[in-house]
Amino acid sequence: EAKEHGRNGFAFFKPGNDLKNSQRLQVENELRMALERNEFVVYYQPRIDIETRIIIGVEALVRWNHPERGLIQPNDFIPQAEESGLIVPIGNWVLQTAVRQGKKWCEQLVPIKMSVNLSPLQFKQLDIIKWVSETLEDENFEPSLLNLEITESMAMNVEYSNKVLEGLKEIGVKISMDDFGTGYSSLGSLRKMPIDYLKIDRSFIHNIDNSPEDVAIVKAIISMAQSLQLQVIAEGVEKEEQLLLLQRLQCDEMQGYLVSPPIPAKDMEKMLSHNPF
Ligand code: C2E
Ligand code: MG
Ligand code: MG
Ligand code: MG
Repeated sequence: EAKEHGRNGFAFFKPGNDLKNSQRLQVENELRMALERNEFVVYYQPRIDIETRIIIGVEALVRWNHPERGLIQPNDFIPQAEESGLIVPIGNWVLQTAVRQGKKWCEQLVPIKMSVNLSPLQFKQLDIIKWVSETLEDENFEPSLLNLEITESMAMNVEYSNKVLEGLKEIGVKISMDDFGTGYSSLGSLRKMPIDYLKIDRSFIHNIDNSPEDVAIVKAIISMAQSLQLQVIAEGVEKEEQLLLLQRLQCDEMQGYLVSPPIPAKDMEKMLSHNPF
């Protein structure tokens, strides 16, 4: 291997797999150390009831507080965490942290729902149901207030995913389909899935105040969800006009910068005590 690279190593470094592999190893090591050093942080974004404008829940979103590079967003490390398998311990840490925080808020302030994202690899773990139920028990958190978010691609193997989802429902947890509309699942396939919430991807929302086509799509999604008795959450609401439109379309909940980006637990706590916004 060293020979291939020539005498002065990097000068002959092939920009192919070798470089990628060494970078991959480095990122993997960094992620492992980050876990040990407790460098991950959970931010929270409010979930708003569109009718009352009250915060009825939050979504837990992980960040990496890197000692040199500062706050790193999930899109810049979740893929590597997924690839290396480290998303499993990271995701479990997020679940535990979020549920522990949720318990505090429920006791000190008001009962709120806690959404936590599941990664494809977490979802494939055979002990996922056991892990979730143990975490809920350990933290003494009301299962029906936990919403686990999956994506369409995770439900491609219908037999497996329905088995896991049924198991999660048996312990009382609610399931959300995240980023809906960006994957390949048909509207019909939703009917066969034991889910509770549909989150409309923000790509359908961000132009909704200017595009009759997008209004039509969102309207169709909402009416379909209603007939399947699913609650609908709109993601990425940034403008008041969008909120008003969604209200008219009888969307149930919203998340978005209009109310707040994801924020640290301390700031979320302040928002919760000034509810409604
Ligand atoms: P997601 O689960 O769909 O989360 C929503 C993303 O949209 C968040 O990005 C949030 O900050 C962003 N967002 C919310 N409102 C608005 C808005 O009004 N405008 C715009 N432009 N963006 C908005 P974030 O926090 O960077 O997370 C990105 C993705 O990373 C998440 O998408 C989720 O797929 C993944 N992720 C985050 N935390 C976790 C985690 O703990 N575990 C796993 N497996 N994935 C996570
Ligand atoms: Mg999500
Ligand atoms: Mg989403
Ligand atoms: Mg997503």
